[in-house]
Amino acid sequence: MTALEAAVGAVYLGAAACFVLGLHLMNAPPTARRGNALSAGGMAAALLATLVLVAARGAAPAAWAVIAAGTAIGAGAGLFAALRVRMTAMPQLVSLFNAVGGGAAALIGGYEFGARPDPGTAVAAVIAVDVVIGTAAFSGSLVAAGKLDGRLPGRPVLLPARAVLTALLALTAAVGAVLVAAGTGGAVPLAVAAAAALLLGVAGVLAIGGADMPVVVSLLNACTGLAVAMAGFALDNSMMVIAGALVGASGAILTKLMADAMNRPLSAVVAGGFGTGDGGPAAGGGGDVQRIGADDAAIRLAYAARVVMVPGYGLAAAQAQHELRELADLLAERGVRVDYAVHPVAGRMPGHMNVLLAEAKVPYERMKEMEQANPDFPRTDVALVVGANDVTNPAARRPGTAISGMPILDVDKAETVIVIKRSLGHGYAGIDNELYTAPGTRMLLGDAKEALASLTGAVKALVG
Ligand code: NDP
Repeated sequence: MTALEAAVGAVYLGAAACFVLGLHLMNAPPTARRGNALSAGGMAAALLATLVLVAARGAAPAAWAVIAAGTAIGAGAGLFAALRVRMTAMPQLVSLFNAVGGGAAALIGGYEFGARPDPGTAVAAVIAVDVVIGTAAFSGSLVAAGKLDGRLPGRPVLLPARAVLTALLALTAAVGAVLVAAGTGGAVPLAVAAAAALLLGVAGVLAIGGADMPVVVSLLNACTGLAVAMAGFALDNSMMVIAGALVGASGAILTKLMADAMNRPLSAVVAGGFGTGDGGPAAGGGGDVQRIGADDAAIRLAYAARVVMVPGYGLAAAQAQHELRELADLLAERGVRVDYAVHPVAGRMPGHMNVLLAEAKVPYERMKEMEQANPDFPRTDVALVVGANDVTNPAARRPGTAISGMPILDVDKAETVIVIKRSLGHGYAGIDNELYTAPGTRMLLGDAKEALASLTGAVKALVG
């Protein structure tokens, strides 16, 4: 090992430490920004060190041109997309970035296989796993992004003879990978395995719908991490191995946490077929809905001792986080105790609500996780549900519904529940919400932004 290679290795080690520390800092909203910056700094240092190594090894001008073009296009497109994305479209962007990662890992594997005349069983096996997983993550993530973006149907799309088809595709990919590892058939088995994995990703994710999509995106993210780690083994690049392993491990943990939060076994998620994925039309619910106007709702809020704000996807869709904070501040100025209850899968991606509320400068200590918030609902005068639906649906407590067993926010235990949404339509899981016909619930129908603004106006008019 030359002195330069040792120095680059040391930079990689430092970068790996930045990733680990960065991930740790991302555990809590107040330090998450720093964690992100630290991880990005580690990655920038690792990239620079790699470029120095490439330069020292004497890359041809054509190689530099490819690196420059790739960097310009990749960084340009990434920056452009990240700067312009709306908060509600973040999940599909994450999925798109994940597709790029999986595809890149698979391409590296394919290139390495072509570049080595005799890779040996171990490296060939690693390349085969990299290509199969990376390709499936690529196509699966593209389909997930299409579903989240509404370009593909959000409901489960069950292809004819799906079970047989997916079993055949999985078998083809596995046999191809074994042949690659055995060194038989040259590049043909690798190409066949990649094609099967590509179709497997499409068929697998198409079949999954509605409320399970976050778990799928996280699972695909873990797969991409694994593929990148495998590509790192093939390239003998410790940085890629470490970064890939971290993504794989954290993605796997997040997948498990989210599956638990929705009470959906991972096997059931992957099997697909659950949920509609689309906000349904009118929800009957089998009872009478009691409506409330902004003026009456303002009276209940202004004279409450304790109010809990419950944000959901509709708040994000309406971009009403600032209006929510304004109303909360107004109530707090009157001495009302105001908290925010955040369900782990409220919105369309993990942490969606925390990010929105933090953007509106809601103090972190006012944001309560579900476990903290639930014991307080029986002592709450008003639970103000803003664009949240499934995560408040008491049907989850009964067996036999599409969301049975999903832990929910116990808003129905508050004295009064005021629900702001535009209609009686369904949430992501596509089922009626029994909360809307409960005796203590009042519906304030309208767009979240407008409804919150009129509530704030009504409270101001009431209390001067
Ligand atoms: P839901 O999807 O259950 O409900 C959101 C509600 O917001 C809808 O019923 C809709 O009703 C209302 N809404 C939409 N736009 C507006 C608006 N402009 N103003 C007011 N209301 C609006 O959201 P929840 O947050 O309660 O639950 C999240 C769901 O999404 C769960 O099923 C979860 O499993 C799933 N999911 C979660 C992900 C995550 O990681 N967080 C990712 C992907 C899915 P209306 O049309 O009547 O206004």
